[in-house]
Amino acid sequence: MIETQTQRGAGAARAAPRRRPPPLDATDALFLDIDGTLVDLAPAPDRVDVDPALRPMLASTSRVLDGALALITGRSIRDVDRLLPGLALPIAGQHGCERRSRDGAMHLHAGDPATLDRLRDLVAAFATRHPGLLVEHKGASLAVHYRAVPELAGLVHRSIRHVVTEVDGWTAEGGKKLVEVRPGGPDKGRAIAQFLAEAPFAGRRPVFVGDDRGDEPGFRFVQRVGGVAVKVGKGSTFARYRLPDVDAVRTWISTLAPPSAA
Ligand SMILES: [Mg+2]
Repeated sequence: MIETQTQRGAGAARAAPRRRPPPLDATDALFLDIDGTLVDLAPAPDRVDVDPALRPMLASTSRVLDGALALITGRSIRDVDRLLPGLALPIAGQHGCERRSRDGAMHLHAGDPATLDRLRDLVAAFATRHPGLLVEHKGASLAVHYRAVPELAGLVHRSIRHVVTEVDGWTAEGGKKLVEVRPGGPDKGRAIAQFLAEAPFAGRRPVFVGDDRGDEPGFRFVQRVGGVAVKVGKGSTFARYRLPDVDAVRTWISTLAPPSAA
């Protein structure tokens, strides 16, 4: 059975502390998820409402951190560049299947293209039978969104996992009203580790903020290397710190880079 957000939240009261994170420091390396962390979740990924103040806030924060700010997201890099035009921050897209370093170099960790095509066909055939599902083709991965038909949650999780277990080296992971299909190996923790091996992130304390299940590998990694993990919203988590919502995240970040500095 698929647990609801409320049920996960009830468990979180026992499972995780509610401590606010310590203040950001200009010597930190800051890693931020996007959806549910910097922007509120929307009925579909292309319908998020990006506050015009977000782009200057991120630009200003990046300057204060000497460039040590990266976005770590399930979205494709192309999609993020469309949402935040002109910013061109370092990004790990599709949970680390693609990564853009600070110097602009691109790193791809994609699976076999023929396997992706096969999975795409199988997922499309399933979605065609269930109106209301949205299949997002991100390039190296897929996401099946059931936000419009939440009653299909159990069916979607079971069916997509079943499809993916037939395919070696690929994984299906549930998130908020979606299931992601992507090659095994890349995850947000590995993407953060790769950034930390490069300038200007190397040698800094990593701080990672995210809201969903796919962020947990990032939380575990940064805490293992002495960093700070911050979970946004309810739900059990490995993160030691928590902020309640997107507004609280942006307020917390802005203590480092006030809007007037943008
Ligand atoms: Mg998120």
